[in-house]
Amino acid sequence: MALNVIMLGPPGAGKGTQAERFAQTHGVPKISTGEILREGIQQGLALALKAKEKMDRGELVDDETMIGIVRERLSRPDAALGFVLDGFPRTVSQGRALDAIMEDRASGPLIVVDITVPQEELVRRLSTRRICSTCGANADPTDSAAATCGQCGGPLVTRTDDNDRVVLERLRVYAENTKPLVDYYCSRPTFRTVNGAQPPDRVAEELEATIIDAARVGAGLPLAQR
Ligand SMILES: [Zn+2]
Repeated sequence: MALNVIMLGPPGAGKGTQAERFAQTHGVPKISTGEILREGIQQGLALALKAKEKMDRGELVDDETMIGIVRERLSRPDAALGFVLDGFPRTVSQGRALDAIMEDRASGPLIVVDITVPQEELVRRLSTRRICSTCGANADPTDSAAATCGQCGGPLVTRTDDNDRVVLERLRVYAENTKPLVDYYCSRPTFRTVNGAQPPDRVAEELEATIIDAARVGAGLPLAQR
């Protein structure tokens, strides 16, 4: 059973950490467009370099380029049995393109999970966001008990630039951009919502159960309804 998963969720929902964890448990790659871009630039790949030129000019990378990059990544052998996409799609047009890619793959349904957290809780997490004072990595915002960096073991310090106004603006932009995408997916039988306002282990358990359930439901659907 292929596990083709998209994770949606606002900044502070712990999406990246959960995506990584689920991907590792199931032996599928976690694919984030930021990481593919950095890797592609290092390797001198044409599409990634084209995207870098745009970013260097301060422009957003266009849908066509992003879709090309994701299409290439999903065609690699390690993604044959599934993937967890983190940070893509961001727009409905990217979502449509991903549906077309999935049709070509014919590898099972696309499962969309939206990790939701009430705004007050996100503001609390983001305005107390901590980073590692040694390597600069972000601490897991959902794990307030951690005292040291998960990457290098360095001490964690509170970031001071995430004041409430900046945090609220980030959340507003996220909600505005993501609402059409959630509307695009939410009537599908393989769309799920998970409560992200719980301890990380509970969120991981809920994600595990809901994704496996959605994969079973999706596998029984006619292709056109997946
Ligand atoms: Zn560190």
